[in-house]
Amino acid sequence: MRIVAVKERTVPLSAASRNASISFDAMTASALEVVTDAAINGKPLIGRAFDSVGRYGHGGLLRERFIPRLVAADPDDYADGDGGIDPDKVWTTVMRDEKPGGHGERPGAVGLIDAAVFDLVAKQKGLPLWAYLAQREGRPAENRVNIYASGGHYRADDDVRQLQDDIRRAIARGHRRFKIKIGGIPLSNDVRRIEAVLNVIEPGMALAVDGNGTFTRETASAYAETLSDFPLAWIEEPVHPLDYDLHRELAERFPLPIATGENLFSVDDARNLLRYGGLRPDRDVLQFDVSLSYGIVEYRRILDTMAEHGWARTQCAPHAGHLLALNVVAGLGLGSAETAIDEDRLFGKLTSAISVTDGRATLPDAPGTGLEASPVFAEIFPDALQ
Ligand code: MG
Repeated sequence: MRIVAVKERTVPLSAASRNASISFDAMTASALEVVTDAAINGKPLIGRAFDSVGRYGHGGLLRERFIPRLVAADPDDYADGDGGIDPDKVWTTVMRDEKPGGHGERPGAVGLIDAAVFDLVAKQKGLPLWAYLAQREGRPAENRVNIYASGGHYRADDDVRQLQDDIRRAIARGHRRFKIKIGGIPLSNDVRRIEAVLNVIEPGMALAVDGNGTFTRETASAYAETLSDFPLAWIEEPVHPLDYDLHRELAERFPLPIATGENLFSVDDARNLLRYGGLRPDRDVLQFDVSLSYGIVEYRRILDTMAEHGWARTQCAPHAGHLLALNVVAGLGLGSAETAIDEDRLFGKLTSAISVTDGRATLPDAPGTGLEASPVFAEIFPDALQ
C-alpha cells in the first residue's frame, strides 16, 4: 500500500475563554488526512486525525518537512509485510534525519501523522481503534472507559453561577468527575469557586483543579496548603511543567495528589519527570498528551518507561478530550480520559455523541478513530469523501 498524499487543514477554534496561562481566542488545530492507493468498500482508504488542543495547528512543520518526507518514501519503508502499513515504520520514516532531543513543536506534527496512520490501519482491519490497539497488545478489548469532564474556565460575567450550571449540566450528561481551572484569580476567590462546585456535586463524585503551570514556588505552596483542606482528586500543573525539582518539593510537603505531564512531549521528557519529579505512583496522575507527544508509537514507549519506574497505566489520564485519547485509554488500559464540559464548542462537540453513563463513556464500534461519526466531522473535514 502506498501513501499517495497527506493533506493538512488549519482549523480556527475561536473559543473565547481563558485559563491561568493563556487565552484561547486565536487558538488553531490541524486536521490531517493520509490518503492511500488502497480502497475499502469501493472508497479510497484514508486515515484521519484531528489535533489536540492548546498548542496551535502544526501545518507549517507538516508541509515543510514531515509530509514531503512521508510521501517521497519508498512504500517498502513502511510496509507491514502483509499488504498494509506498519505505524512504527511510518514513525521511523517521518523521523528520519531528525536529531534527538529539542523536541519543540515537532512531536505534535508527527503525532498527527501517527494518529492518522493508526486510524487507517484500524479501518483496513475493520476494527474500531480501541479494539485494534487492544488486539495489538493481546489485551481484552474494552469499549467502556472512565471519563472526566473538564472545563471551569473563568468568565467575565456571573462566573460562579455559570460554573455551577456547567457542572449541573455535566452531571445530567452522566459525568461523575470534574475539573475546573484555578490560578486565574486570587486564591480566596478560587476557594469560593471550588466550594461552589463542591456544593453542587453529589456523594461519590470528585473534583480536580488545574493551575496550568503558572504558580511560583510560594503561590503553589499557598494553594497546596489551602486546598489540602478540600477533598480534591488532584491539583494539576501547580508549577512550571519543566521544573521537576519543584514538583518533587511539593510532593514531599503536601499529600494532595499532583497531576502533570500534559506539556511534556516525548519519552525523554517523561523519563526525566519520573526520575526527578518526586511523583508518587500510588496517587499522582500522568497526563502526557498522546497526539502532542509524537502519537501512539511514542506513547507506548512512555508506558514502557513508566512501568520501569514502577507506575501502573491506571495512573494515566491523557490530556485533551477527544476521540484519539478515548480510544487510547480504552485500547491500552489507561486510567481515565478527559472530555470537555462545554459541548457547544468544537472540541466538546467532537465527543458529544459519545454515550456517558455513571462516569463511563461507551466507545462506538465504527472502524477507526470514529471521526467520521462525530457531529463536527464535516466542519473539520469539509472536503472529505466519507
Ligand atoms: Mg491541564
